[in-house]
Amino acid sequence: MRGLMQDWPLLCHRIIGHAALFHGTQEVVTRSVEGPIHRTNYAEIHARALKVSQGLQRDGIKLGDRVATIAWNTWRHLEAWYGIMGIGAICHTVNPRLFPEQIAWIINHAQDRVVMVDTTFVPVLEKIADKLPSVDRFIVLTDRAHMPETTLKNAVAYEDWIAQADGDFAWQNFDENTAAAMCYTSGTTGDPKGVLYSHRSNVLHSFMANTKDALGTSAADTMLPVVPLFHANSWGIAFSAPTMGTKLVMPGPKLDGASVYELLDTEKVTFTAGVPTVWLMLLNHMAANNLKLPHLKMVVCGGSAMPRSMIKSFVDMGVQVRHAWGMTEMSPLGTLATLKPPFSNLQGDDRLDVLQTQGYPPYGVQMKITDDAGKELPWDGKTFGRLKVSGPAVAKAYFRVDANILDEDGYFDTGDVATIDPHGYMRITDRSKDVIKSGGEWISSIDLENLAVGHPAVAEAAVIGIHHPKWDERPLLIVQLKQGQNASREDILKFMDGKIAKWWMPDDVAFVDGIPHTATGKILKTALRDQFKAYSFPNAAA
Ligand code: ADP
Repeated sequence: MRGLMQDWPLLCHRIIGHAALFHGTQEVVTRSVEGPIHRTNYAEIHARALKVSQGLQRDGIKLGDRVATIAWNTWRHLEAWYGIMGIGAICHTVNPRLFPEQIAWIINHAQDRVVMVDTTFVPVLEKIADKLPSVDRFIVLTDRAHMPETTLKNAVAYEDWIAQADGDFAWQNFDENTAAAMCYTSGTTGDPKGVLYSHRSNVLHSFMANTKDALGTSAADTMLPVVPLFHANSWGIAFSAPTMGTKLVMPGPKLDGASVYELLDTEKVTFTAGVPTVWLMLLNHMAANNLKLPHLKMVVCGGSAMPRSMIKSFVDMGVQVRHAWGMTEMSPLGTLATLKPPFSNLQGDDRLDVLQTQGYPPYGVQMKITDDAGKELPWDGKTFGRLKVSGPAVAKAYFRVDANILDEDGYFDTGDVATIDPHGYMRITDRSKDVIKSGGEWISSIDLENLAVGHPAVAEAAVIGIHHPKWDERPLLIVQLKQGQNASREDILKFMDGKIAKWWMPDDVAFVDGIPHTATGKILKTALRDQFKAYSFPNAAA
């Protein structure tokens, strides 16, 4: 027997419709690419998103066509986001931090027909434009006064382009399983892979994100997503915030400590979300200038492991920390480290121990750990295994890749290695390709990195496995020191000694001027392995 409830498709554009109707005057504040602070609200964003839909339709864009955006977090990007989805076209957010050849590869693979681009990235696109045959036109996200001279095909300033639409347009209705958006993983190994979100998966993910123990913002909150719209769906915030009527503060192109601090402070931001490198810059800026953020309630941090020292800095400021884990393939939220009873009463180091885990999933994500043969492993907090997930907002295939990516129970292998404790708290041990295999046992590169950055002179640390004649692999700690600071190999090893098992201690420390990063701000271990491929340990006796 079927239920007798209404057939009401879960469509992304209904979110901005809801925000316009019930939270129409709620502000969306942006540090614009042009410079000044820009203020608008959900009602205006909704009205202009309708014009985007109308303009795209007039330009011949149809259901299922891909429209790319290469843009910072701004109000115009948000309008484009909903306007593209509102006619059943697919909003393909391209990460501008990729190499130009990768950007070209991705646009060609997605067969994007229109590219909406910030002025910042016009020069990059001009260099690759002749390699983009699927693109009919480029819309530059600015007004006429700031429109650059450009050779891009059919280029038009966004403001001129939407001014041609009168906004007398209705959102379209279609099946909730229709594709809404796409995002390519950064492809640090192999070609980038396209994750294709549906309207249904995005809406369900926004419900998950909005639960109190996840992002949990309300209409009384102000959220600043430092995480870009082009990085894994901005962790769902471009959907979850308007669903709740939360005020949005968009940081535009300036993500340095001083600029982020200024917005957090002047806009009285209560919730913010971003990767650890962003928070490192913010904390350094605040410490150097003796600054406070009395309105800030919650910092959500994910994308890579949040170091314990960073968690402590926020906790000491009276700010709650929510360490999150997820991935593009999961829309992206997977788990969040919220303190559930009895852990909520913990203090000091015991509290940090739980906050430092990657946490447990909201309803809508299932997870398990298995061995290489697919056998489930115990949740004892000690046994490492391959972390696998399933849920309505988890990918079941990649765009235009003919391969099964699920196991026989429908779980997706995340490529991460993790433990799960009896309470369901998950801890990422490593990426399966980064874990160091020493004498048949595994050493977590992430744990060593987290510990090393706790040393006051260390700006950033990376650990890679180097071949060892006896142990197969041993850890090499690669360190970038803070500017003007000094520490020797011995100082750093002494600092780590006693805090980890003896056999986990790195065999050597190498100092570098800079640690390379991927386009999503993660340590680029492939480049480090390349850089140190001729290295051998001084103590390595055959
Ligand atoms: P990309 O692979 O394009 O950089 P993703 O955001 O999809 O982008 O990367 C997901 C991966 O990032 C995860 O599989 C995991 O390895 C890592 N990751 C994300 N959050 C955390 C975290 N809190 N701790 C450790 N690793 C994390």
